[in-house]
Amino acid sequence: MTDQNGKTDIAKLSAVADRIANDLMETEEWGKPSSLSPKMQGIDTHQFGIAIHTAEGDTVTAGKADAPFTIQSISKVFSLTLALEMFSGKVWERVGKEPSGDPYNSIVDLERHEGIPRNPFINPGALVINDLLHKAERDDGGKTNVRDLLNSLLDGEEVGIDDEVAQSEGGSNFANRAMANLSKHFDNFENDVEAVLKDYVDQCAITMSSRQLARAGRYLMVERADSDDEAAKRRARRVRRINALMLTCGQYDGSGEFAYRVGLPAKSGVGGGILAVVPNTASVCVWAPGLDDYGNSLLGTEALARLSEEMDWSVFGARSH
Ligand code: GLN
Repeated sequence: MTDQNGKTDIAKLSAVADRIANDLMETEEWGKPSSLSPKMQGIDTHQFGIAIHTAEGDTVTAGKADAPFTIQSISKVFSLTLALEMFSGKVWERVGKEPSGDPYNSIVDLERHEGIPRNPFINPGALVINDLLHKAERDDGGKTNVRDLLNSLLDGEEVGIDDEVAQSEGGSNFANRAMANLSKHFDNFENDVEAVLKDYVDQCAITMSSRQLARAGRYLMVERADSDDEAAKRRARRVRRINALMLTCGQYDGSGEFAYRVGLPAKSGVGGGILAVVPNTASVCVWAPGLDDYGNSLLGTEALARLSEEMDWSVFGARSH
């Protein structure tokens, strides 16, 4: 909900966030933790945090907004951003833009499409993006890896890395290895598979809080570009496209249901985080480590559904003026 100048009503937003956090703590069904590593499997699922960063620069939080968690597949938004900055349209020669309808770690489509993954947000797609970034260099002073990009999006605040999670995923990553090798078989993977997998596992094991992720996601809100600022217009166009992919592919084979319930571009990770974007209005991160059958945060999705309903935030149009 915004006032007549298009500004978010912060008092209302705070009340809504508090109510969501309180209501969710009363729920019985919290979902299952990820089995990616013993540490993640042992997490107390009865936890919830939300942080909202508005276009005006205000931050609203409720629940455990400062609890760190591994960002996992949310990192795929940032690696895609880097790849588009560096290679623009050439990225789409290596990876598609279509929803997969399969789980994030499925390999079946990769053979059917001769090593071209369906989209950059499922594992085979993210691995190809990481292959593109692996030895990439740039002369514009921009970043080439997700960790450095995140540190700069947080104005120099350093993100952490969970070595234990990285190590256990690094050692048991057989399906991801198979996907990378199958892409290599079809000549869609240039670098050493093990080296690229390490980049991927390390970026998934980055730890951030909801507050930090909402801040890092500010650039996804789409800045309104001055008509003669070509670089700003290019950035805005890129962000729109990332948002389109988040909407259609961000929750894997649960993306249609998510768009129906929440109506916002978003990207989930098996650490329980979801980063969602309200274009021109807000960047939101929710966290609850219990997952649904698709590997998306069960209560995080519920929280975003309530937030978009109560704030009248949906990319499919507002109920009221
Ligand atoms: N690191 C995880 C994996 O590759 C990320 C999956 C996810 O968050 N959906 O399986």
